[in-house]
Amino acid sequence: MIDGKSPRNKRVVVVGAGLGGLAAAASLRAEGFEVRIVEKNDRIGGKLNFREIEGYGFDLGPSIFTLPQFFESIWERAGKRMSDYVGLEKVTPHWRNFFEDGVVLDLYEEMDRMKAELAKLPGDPETLWKQFEAFLAYGREQYALVDEGYFREGLDNLWEMLRYYGWRLIFKMDHRHSMSESIANHFEEEHLRRIFEYFIKYVGSSAVDAPGYMNLMPLIQFDYGLWYVKGGMYNLARGLGRLLDHIGVTVSLDSEVASIDRNGRRVTGVTLASGETIAADYVVCNMEVIPAYRKLLSEPPAFLQKLKKFAPACSGIVLHLGTDRIYDQLAHHNFFFSKNQHKHFDTVFKQGKLPEDPTIYLVAPTRTDPSKAPAGHDNLKILPHIPPIDPDKPLTHDDYVALKDRVIDKLERMGLTDLRKHIVVEDLLTPVDIERMYYSNRGSIYGVVSDWKLNQAFKAPKQSSKYKNLYFTGGSVNPGGGMPMAVLSGQKVCDRILKQEGRSS
Ligand SMILES: Cc1cc2nc3c(=O)[nH]c(=O)nc-3n(C[C@H](O)[C@H](O)[C@H](O)COP(=O)(O)OP(=O)(O)OC[C@H]3O[C@@H](n4cnc5c(N)ncnc54)[C@H](O)[C@@H]3O)c2cc1C
Repeated sequence: MIDGKSPRNKRVVVVGAGLGGLAAAASLRAEGFEVRIVEKNDRIGGKLNFREIEGYGFDLGPSIFTLPQFFESIWERAGKRMSDYVGLEKVTPHWRNFFEDGVVLDLYEEMDRMKAELAKLPGDPETLWKQFEAFLAYGREQYALVDEGYFREGLDNLWEMLRYYGWRLIFKMDHRHSMSESIANHFEEEHLRRIFEYFIKYVGSSAVDAPGYMNLMPLIQFDYGLWYVKGGMYNLARGLGRLLDHIGVTVSLDSEVASIDRNGRRVTGVTLASGETIAADYVVCNMEVIPAYRKLLSEPPAFLQKLKKFAPACSGIVLHLGTDRIYDQLAHHNFFFSKNQHKHFDTVFKQGKLPEDPTIYLVAPTRTDPSKAPAGHDNLKILPHIPPIDPDKPLTHDDYVALKDRVIDKLERMGLTDLRKHIVVEDLLTPVDIERMYYSNRGSIYGVVSDWKLNQAFKAPKQSSKYKNLYFTGGSVNPGGGMPMAVLSGQKVCDRILKQEGRSS
């Protein structure tokens, strides 16, 4: 029993210690459940992961922390304060954007600085500023709408959305236009169009295929800040681990789940690869929905076919470089834009091919945290988005290496002079590694793709349609990928289980 909550004498087993699994475990324990997490890897965090190589500290997964309120609520529910476990610091500027025509533009949370940046662009500064303000006002309206229902109530499908929002779903939520069309309706200026389209990075999808209301994403940064986890992103996992320890969640590492066991329409627990069985009243699965139904439940092809619309978001090559010099022109977060971003989206998301000229995300964390590289050296993480693995036409390692070379060529061309010559440490993760490390669906980085035509930007529901006491959490269920969404899904799974138990949260 913790903090006055009555014990429920109910056991929950959580499969996977990614952020969704950790958030679900903490929330359920805070509500009095007996909780055990079983994780196949030797550490918690899932894609929130790190690697130390010769004095360089690389965050292998997320590097941008947003929406702190969705993390703070995990600690609040357990009667604790997040700030006692995890330190956050603001990152300024948010992003630096590099274009092939030489334009460099920063994004600032401080509106006076943002306004000054816009004056660097071609066109009348006052007009650009008015368009920028109008775009933020529209994004803020979309954020408020999506936040009050889809996020806060944990809505899971069109029917729940209609019941909650009524006419506002049809007339207020921007789904008539694509994200990209709504951006074009607000801005004529090409650089701004490209920058705001690339906010789709947060969910690894295409701005051409995602609905307009996804333009809420800039608001996440401008209104709630962009943060770094003090000491490195992995300190978030460490902080969550300490919380679980303090409230009494059992965590078993190096424990791969081989099957979720069932009896009719109910699951009864899990069996580990070691042969150990763990009985449970509820199973919360942080392994993604499609691999879990296929591998842990061996569902028939007809059932798996129904899940096809929950196709994977993009994957990536993740290149970690230690360099023996510092590139002073870089900010903490940088984007090097494709000459033709719509072609990039089309190549990756429609044709399923490696892009010739991708938009590239580059993180240089020493701008905020010098401890991440030896003095006078730099730590660069480079991430172009690419298609998930196609099992029918898998690419070779050489294909990924060729893309890596194109990316380095582009960065050298765009100002990181002689980058190749200055590399002293190199580490490359391909989609094959990402799939192997986290069992993500075809190496997806952000769970399920947000595509209006395919799935109306819904991810899979949190409660299994087949087994009443089986729930899913993480990037493959609503509200989707990205750290804040993954932890939100875990908390909403807890709310749904409480409802099933006949108790409200
Ligand atoms: C390179 C990269 C960059 C990213 N950048 C950002 C960013 O800047 N900001 C942001 O917010 N998000 C970012 N993300 C996305 C973010 O990391 C994910 O959306 C989020 O961490 C996923 O959490 P999850 O709950 O889905 O679990 P996952 O991280 O997918 O973890 C699932 C866990 O389950 C375990 N597991 C799976 N199957 C089994 C099994 N059978 N038995 C036992 N354990 C099992 C896995 O080992 C893993 O630990 C990035 C991701 C990557 C990879």
